[in-house]
Amino acid sequence: MTMSENGIVIAGGGLAATRVAEQLRRAEYTGPITIVSDELHLPYDRPPLSKEVLRNPEVDTTLRPQEFYDDNNITLRLGSAALGFDAEAQTLALADGTSLGYDELVIATGLVPKRIPSFPDLAGIHVLRNLDESAALRDQAGSARRAVIVGAGFIGCEVAASLRALGVDVVLVEPQPQPLASVLGEQIGALVTRLHRGEGVDVRTGTGVSEVLGDDGKVTAVVLGDGTRVDADLVVVGIGSRPGTDWLADSAIEVDNGVVCDAVGRTSAPHVWALGDVASWQDGSGHQVRVEHWSNVAEQARVLVPAMLGQEVPEAVVVPYFWSDQYDVKIQCLGEPEADDTVHIVEDDGRKFLAFYERDGAVVGVVGGGMPGKVMKARTKIASGAPIAEVLPG
Ligand SMILES: Cc1cc2nc3c(=O)[nH]c(=O)nc-3n(C[C@H](O)[C@H](O)[C@H](O)COP(=O)(O)OP(=O)(O)OC[C@H]3O[C@@H](n4cnc5c(N)ncnc54)[C@H](O)[C@@H]3O)c2cc1C
Repeated sequence: MTMSENGIVIAGGGLAATRVAEQLRRAEYTGPITIVSDELHLPYDRPPLSKEVLRNPEVDTTLRPQEFYDDNNITLRLGSAALGFDAEAQTLALADGTSLGYDELVIATGLVPKRIPSFPDLAGIHVLRNLDESAALRDQAGSARRAVIVGAGFIGCEVAASLRALGVDVVLVEPQPQPLASVLGEQIGALVTRLHRGEGVDVRTGTGVSEVLGDDGKVTAVVLGDGTRVDADLVVVGIGSRPGTDWLADSAIEVDNGVVCDAVGRTSAPHVWALGDVASWQDGSGHQVRVEHWSNVAEQARVLVPAMLGQEVPEAVVVPYFWSDQYDVKIQCLGEPEADDTVHIVEDDGRKFLAFYERDGAVVGVVGGGMPGKVMKARTKIASGAPIAEVLPG
């Protein structure tokens, strides 16, 4: 790369931005680094937003203190969204009317939560992606009686667990036959349903929310797809997110379910890179894959940064990993399980469980609930695509 006083500009101020900045200094890049974020907070970690932060206002999820950025000569441009880039001029336009020149631009703008357009504009309807949304939900949960959570994906399930801990009645509504069914399959979904029902959550599957009713500008009830009315003063929409690429609409870059990248994070635009939740990277078999999990961000930063600096790119065998905390059960997933794999549940004590996923006779993933040691032990078998018989008991 050529080095000028412009240096490397990172659009987005979350985990991916911080990991790239850290990795750049570790790789002994000495030029300027600028992080541009539309948020006013120092970059922070998101996993606690649906967990500890919802239950405890004291929890601080800041990734690095201000001194880290000062000591490493990293400029933070907070509270100013990136609006687009000019690939020829190598400039990034910001919402405050200024523009920044760059030698290399890294796109790390994460996701935007999906909303339900037909829902009315009422106080008490929440989405959860950022710190302010988490704080707003926690504030209202303090006085809420009953919450309806629309969508039993990971975030919906975690919010259900956190709200139960705060003493709120929870109705979890999911159109699929089981929570998490599209990701982990119906068998594991059924174990997740059992976990939530055991904690007093009213889990309603196979139906959606067709209407939200309100009075005096506030939510009072929802109507489910089957016509049932459920009184509620809090509604959380957890139906997933979409890549945060709207700001790139007028920039010359390929976007297709995220910013399209090669296997090291290089986009279709010269000197522009992308990583994290917003980026669709090419995997080992040539498919474009966009991952929305925490560990993936650091893995990608470890590859993108040397590629960008023209250094040797490490060739690590990465087994994808993510976790979700629900009550006292840490659900962990290693490998690439799919909903239509054959699922072998090898342990189940009524709360904790362990399951292996089989495809074409090989073990492709493991999912455990409250079984951290046993999940991690499967890593080498998954990495080598061992025959399923090698991980099944007896
Ligand atoms: C509530 C919640 C719980 C989670 N729990 C888990 C978990 O338990 N396990 C797990 O593996 N993963 C979890 N994740 C996922 C994990 O947090 C993400 O994979 C990770 O945050 C992705 O980092 P990122 O930097 O790509 O995106 P983000 O962390 O979303 O950061 C993107 C940043 O860019 C900013 N931005 C967006 N557009 C612009 C723009 N135009 N200009 C400037 N800035 C912009 C955003 O405001 C944001 O600050 C969770 C996510 C959420 C939201």
